Amino acid sequence: MYHHVDQSWRDRPRFMSDETVKAFARNLADYVMSAKIDEVTVLLHGGEPLLAGEQRIIQFCNTIRQTLESQATTVEFAMQTNGVLLTPRWMEVLNEFNVTFGVSLDGNRTANDRHRVDHAGGSSYEEVERALQMLQASPHGHLFRGFLSVIDLDNDPLATYRYLAQWKPPRLDFLFPEGTHDRPPPGIKGGGDVTRQPTPYADWLIPIFDEWFNNPGETGMRLFENLIDVLLGGRSQTDGTGDGSFNLVTIETDGAIEDVDLYKAAYVGAPSLGLPSQPPPNVFSTSFAELTSWPNVIERHRLNMIEGLCRTCTQCPAVQACGGGFVPHRWSLANGFSNPSVYCADLYKLSAHVNHKLGMALKPLLEIDQVKPLVQTKYASG
Ligand code: SF4
Repeated sequence: MYHHVDQSWRDRPRFMSDETVKAFARNLADYVMSAKIDEVTVLLHGGEPLLAGEQRIIQFCNTIRQTLESQATTVEFAMQTNGVLLTPRWMEVLNEFNVTFGVSLDGNRTANDRHRVDHAGGSSYEEVERALQMLQASPHGHLFRGFLSVIDLDNDPLATYRYLAQWKPPRLDFLFPEGTHDRPPPGIKGGGDVTRQPTPYADWLIPIFDEWFNNPGETGMRLFENLIDVLLGGRSQTDGTGDGSFNLVTIETDGAIEDVDLYKAAYVGAPSLGLPSQPPPNVFSTSFAELTSWPNVIERHRLNMIEGLCRTCTQCPAVQACGGGFVPHRWSLANGFSNPSVYCADLYKLSAHVNHKLGMALKPLLEIDQVKPLVQTKYASG
């Protein structure tokens, strides 16, 4: 968030105050009761959430848990951390509240040090590696749910995948770097027909897909599993593929309720869910129930669904798998979010590759007499 075009973090408190945490907890409790929701996930994100310190994290989790417990709603806590501060003591604290977590790591030392350095420009790699070793020996190692890695085309894809897989993460997730049509990501020129651009990200991911697909059970891969799910007619579990929904909000440290913070890569104010005529929504003044009827929320929900896509996407043969890509990646000043993703050509190539590999793998199944009519019906209606 420190590098996005929206720099609103500069005007916000570094940490969430107790009053804001309580207002958030009450607001959430009212909403789960009125909407009859029996499970919510509260994800601690940053910056780096462990910088908040042990007491703040304990107080935060206690407040949320105690306020929601009376509503018979299960609260699951999760966290995304760079791992640098993880210690056995932190593992005890996280275990007390069953806070599962992902570690942000882009690959081996070279890969990590390209982007993940401290404020003085020093490498954080040794601390992360120490934390990963500590995790492997920890009695609470089950809290570790995997790696979140941002693709850097300068890293060797298979070496990156194998390095991360050797830590036996339950799940690996590769993210496309932030980028829009106005600020294209590395390796993509931007402008012109995006459906016909080079495909460096698909070319980076495909060897990893092939290795992963040919060695089932090694680790979960969120991007690939989602593509397979939607290609087989299931629902997408992420906002970057398939037909999605608006089901995640960000609570900023001052209590502002916003869309996911990756919108900050699009334009200044892009995560805002407010209207020009009203003060922006905030946990102190806006109930979550009320927010679901705000026009911007309805519009963001529509953008996540196939019906909210531009004409090029709705007519694209890969639309069910691709879903137009992650909404912020569609942004241009000229057309707003009404564009194919800046990663369009990559998404098309990757979806087509996964579809082909899946088809080849399912071929023997399609030839079984009892299965044939079921599968043919599925494909025909798809
Ligand atoms: S659905 Fe995906 S692949 Fe198809 S045009 Fe849109 S962004 Fe491109």
